[in-house]
Amino acid sequence: MNERHETLPEAPYLAPPGSTRATSLHIDGTWRAARDERVREILDPADASVLTVVSEGGRADTEDAIAAAKRAFAGPWRRTTAGERGRLLERVADLLQRDRAEIAVMESLDTGKTIEEGGIDVDDVTEVFRYYAGLADKDTGRLVSAPEGVHSRIVYEPVGVCGLITPWNYPLLQLAWKLAPALAAGNTCVIKPSEVTPVTTLKLMELVMEAGVPDGVVNLVTGSGPEAGAPLSEHPDVDLVSFTGGLATGQRIMAAAAPTVKKIALELGGKNPNIVFPDVDLDTAVDYALSAAFFHSGQVCSAGARLIVHEDLHDAFTAELARRAEAIRIGRGQQEGVRCGPLVSEQHRAKVEAAVARGVEEGARIIAGGRRPDDPELRDGYFYRPTVLVDCDRSMDIVRTEVFGPVVTVERFRTEEEAIALGNDTDYGLSGGVWTDDTGRGERVAAALRHGTVWINDYGPYFPGAEWGGFGRSGIGRELGPSGLDEYREAKHVYRNLAPEPQRWFG
Ligand code: NAD
Repeated sequence: MNERHETLPEAPYLAPPGSTRATSLHIDGTWRAARDERVREILDPADASVLTVVSEGGRADTEDAIAAAKRAFAGPWRRTTAGERGRLLERVADLLQRDRAEIAVMESLDTGKTIEEGGIDVDDVTEVFRYYAGLADKDTGRLVSAPEGVHSRIVYEPVGVCGLITPWNYPLLQLAWKLAPALAAGNTCVIKPSEVTPVTTLKLMELVMEAGVPDGVVNLVTGSGPEAGAPLSEHPDVDLVSFTGGLATGQRIMAAAAPTVKKIALELGGKNPNIVFPDVDLDTAVDYALSAAFFHSGQVCSAGARLIVHEDLHDAFTAELARRAEAIRIGRGQQEGVRCGPLVSEQHRAKVEAAVARGVEEGARIIAGGRRPDDPELRDGYFYRPTVLVDCDRSMDIVRTEVFGPVVTVERFRTEEEAIALGNDTDYGLSGGVWTDDTGRGERVAAALRHGTVWINDYGPYFPGAEWGGFGRSGIGRELGPSGLDEYREAKHVYRNLAPEPQRWFG
């Protein structure tokens, strides 16, 4: 095993390796063990060692958390003003910055990403809390044009108890996109983080309480999806479920939420096209294509995993892409200079390897990666080399199915129409990129792509003020921006007749 330079900080909710007891559920303002005292080991994906031990909550624990959130929704929290809630969010943002270095290391150890990326996540999350702190009291209702003698207004009210279910790739960030607007709008919450990467969610829970959010307003249950997560979509006392994760899980949650007609928000996967026209600067376009495909080892819902390159540029582009992909330094995310960390788990790497093998059977050709690293130091971790596959076409499974690893496929096109048709030929619709020096063409292609975000001559940036979400099977609803707040509000029409008189409709 590698010598570890960084370790998780001591915290009451993180039991040391080997523990048989842990208190990482947070219900009604208290850290506590799972009812049946079960625990789960959390592994470091860089060497498979145990990082920490957390509680393994189950259905009864989630029901406790839902009950606490329901009580809190009926309590003094309902009387807080939007301005007060905004100030609480500001305080969370300040605390995130105070503990930035510690949280960056926690996220790096837990997910495998580099510490630098962990720090970027903390900054992004801070901005999201500040954005919703600012928005909280800016738009709380409006007057509606009505006939004389009638006063009509729309007021925005919280939806109620919200279940927030998050994935393992951006544990802190994906939670912030839900929690900040949910609190700004005055809801109460039950958080269910990914069972693989709960560490920074626990830390954020601690900061939320330190900021002064009342007991029971935010509750947290660690545990598996089927046991700790499923009750959130089924329970009649949960009013909304916001989920980020895979398509199959999203479908299950949608079905489970149907009997109680819950509001649902789904942020699902993507198979995102990155279209490159021949008039671009090759060096720049390859540079961005690498980041689009391999940032966080490709475990990004918006990863540019599907390169669509004009045939005139194809050979030069792919040769340079492969050369630079082979040179990417991979290793433990806490080591200086590392650019790609391990994949999140053994099972996930096996899935990625199987997808590449299937791609090769379908006729794709590996020109970079396609294997685990040779470095014996990395033998115990879940590493996989950045992989470039050429000779791909849209009939192949590897082009149609989300791999969610450091794997990019390359297709060719000849005309603008063909590029657009290829870019839209997916069940998903999360994001896409277009590279061209021709402004008109960039705008035309961006307008034609059926994806929630389109980058022209860039790939990946987002802003807290810009909506994020998917067309097609990439999801339902939007996070971030004003729409991200609307997800957590009910619009209520209050109509007041100022001088009621008999109408005599019924004589
Ligand atoms: P996943 O669907 O396996 O799990 C996500 C969460 O759902 C976890 O907390 C899990 O425990 C929980 N879960 C599982 N079954 C459940 C059930 N029956 N009821 C309730 N909860 C349940 O996803 P993952 O593997 O953790 O994350 C990877 C996926 O997330 C990828 O498909 C990726 O594209 C997607 N993602 C999307 C976005 C976006 O913004 N659209 C962002 C990040 C990740």
